[in-house]
Amino acid sequence: MKLETSALTLARGPRTILSGLSLRFQPGTVTVLAGPNGAGKSTLIDCLAGDLAPTSGQVQLNGQPLESLPLQARARQRAVLPQRAMIAFDFPVAEVVAMGLHPHGIGARSAEGRALVSRAMADMDLAEFADRPATRLSGGEQQRVHIARCLTQARAAGGPALLLLDEPTGGLDYRHQFALAQLLRAAAAEGATILVSLHDLPLASRLADRLLLLGDGRLVAEGPPAILTPALVARLYGIDEAAAAELLPSPPSLPLRLAAE
Ligand code: ADP
Ligand code: MG
Repeated sequence: MKLETSALTLARGPRTILSGLSLRFQPGTVTVLAGPNGAGKSTLIDCLAGDLAPTSGQVQLNGQPLESLPLQARARQRAVLPQRAMIAFDFPVAEVVAMGLHPHGIGARSAEGRALVSRAMADMDLAEFADRPATRLSGGEQQRVHIARCLTQARAAGGPALLLLDEPTGGLDYRHQFALAQLLRAAAAEGATILVSLHDLPLASRLADRLLLLGDGRLVAEGPPAILTPALVARLYGIDEAAAAELLPSPPSLPLRLAAE
């Protein structure tokens, strides 16, 4: 899945939230989106998902304008984790995860459906919660349910996936942050196109092939994790350079270690 934007601009009333963003997301890569609160990260993800139409400019998926795809077709092409994913009813965890099958017309009771759901539940350590109402889990546990739903939706496509994850590590403990990071690296190795927004810069620099730093709806910097210097981080977040230097990983690019090691 090749995702591109050209001069993507989004206004809300008099305010320009995203300004002229021309970006490319390549298969086999993890792009991490970072920037201050209100920078436009979630808005960009909504536009890339096709859930929010740009005021001007375009989003193209494999060369096709995303807006031209009907909702169900979009849901087969990409899986999205919104920043504030909601569980409206008291569905059991396994049923929420199985919702990822629906756009693909795969039955939750079919052998394929059951295999996809149990794989994602195992990935997010949810097996013990399968029959519990998802609304009665902790915040971090619910986040794992949403991630598992998203993984199911992406895998059910049966080909290279496009995953758009808005702050997926919100509420996750370290074990599950690492598990997610490994899963995303593994999915990228299989050809997935991945965009993930994160606030944790050390994790971002271990996970990302490429960082996209957004400030005030504009692209502030783009490149490999090595672009994260104290001066840039200080400017991006409006903090002083000494504080920025303490946030950054040292040495700068530790490889991602696997939990089992
Ligand atoms: P981020 O995810 O980077 O924190 P968002 O993309 O959520 O930022 O928001 C970008 C800007 O757009 C913010 O200033 C926010 O207040 C504004 N915004 C977000 N949603 C709406 C909305 N529905 N109506 C008006 N302004 C909005
Ligand atoms: Mg956001």
